[in-house]
Amino acid sequence: MIPRITMPPSPDDFASQVLHWFDRHGRRDLPWQQDINPYRVWVSEIMLQQTQVRTVVPYFERFMAEFSTVDDLAAADEDRVLHLWTGLGYYARARNLHRAARLVCEQWGGQFPDSVDELGKLPGVGRSTAGAIASIAFGSRAAILDGNVKRVLARYHAVPGWPGQSAVLSRLWQIAESYTPEIRVADYSQAMMDLGATLCTRTSPACDRCPLAAGCAALVSGSQSDFPGRKPKKSLPVRKTTFLMVQNGSGEVWLERRPGHGIWGGLWCFPEIDAPTDSSTWCVDRWGLEPERIQPWEPFRHTFSHYHLDIEPVLTTLPLSPGAVMEGDGQLWYNRRQPQAIGLAAPVAGLLARL
Ligand code: SF4
Repeated sequence: MIPRITMPPSPDDFASQVLHWFDRHGRRDLPWQQDINPYRVWVSEIMLQQTQVRTVVPYFERFMAEFSTVDDLAAADEDRVLHLWTGLGYYARARNLHRAARLVCEQWGGQFPDSVDELGKLPGVGRSTAGAIASIAFGSRAAILDGNVKRVLARYHAVPGWPGQSAVLSRLWQIAESYTPEIRVADYSQAMMDLGATLCTRTSPACDRCPLAAGCAALVSGSQSDFPGRKPKKSLPVRKTTFLMVQNGSGEVWLERRPGHGIWGGLWCFPEIDAPTDSSTWCVDRWGLEPERIQPWEPFRHTFSHYHLDIEPVLTTLPLSPGAVMEGDGQLWYNRRQPQAIGLAAPVAGLLARL
């Protein structure tokens, strides 16, 4: 049984403790905290989903250098957007960002809506992201509940259970709503995200420096690591594939763009075949050419959230000069010395770097 705190603070006390801490210790130098507008807040919030601040910073800066407004992003080619996203993972985020930019321009004349409900209708914008944009960019009283905030609130109130369960999630939303202040709501949202990212960390919370320590149920019972509850373990299925890395006489590599949906949607990948022994047949069927050399590489595992993918790469060299096999729509010879601006799946980028 978790001991209860005798007197929980009023919502105003909670918010003022958090804001007081933020005024002294909060981060204010992150690139998306400068020149704040709905577009910059939105892009940063999407990039920060499942990704740490220090990883996001250079991606955000490159993205803004190229697409400084929502109109720039809406007018861009998807390949260019995915290229700037390469390495950040969860590529559906980039495709949704691009679709949402087009919607904002077509339906809203390039101005973001300011209500959580309308923001939440944009592709890839969930309730917490909508709350972050509404509160940080528009100063509206809107709650947020990203992964960091879930951790703080679950510990503070010792809320049992995994936040992926709807009853747990709705309890956390209820708490988040109750603490969201009427004033300084933009700072409060930033502060809660900061507190979770810098103090109330997953493995070693710095409770001795936390402004919420006096009322934190998990700290009182020494059970910080129990909150939030873990996702029930389920072993992931394993799938297998073979990546056919076809290289021509100039060292260029054949890539094909994947369909816009599913894993690595819209990204450029090697063709996939059933087994390394099929590589010769694939080249003969496709181009009427026997490979000069076939060299299987060490297999490796790439893990998605819902399965493991065991990848066997096979390097297949063709006795070809560039241009002997023409590129078609969604196909190209990738030049590693002067790389084309396209989005690459992470394992493909890793293999190209090793060639
Ligand atoms: S006291 Fe510790 S566990 Fe509680 S909110 Fe603060 S950092 Fe997290």
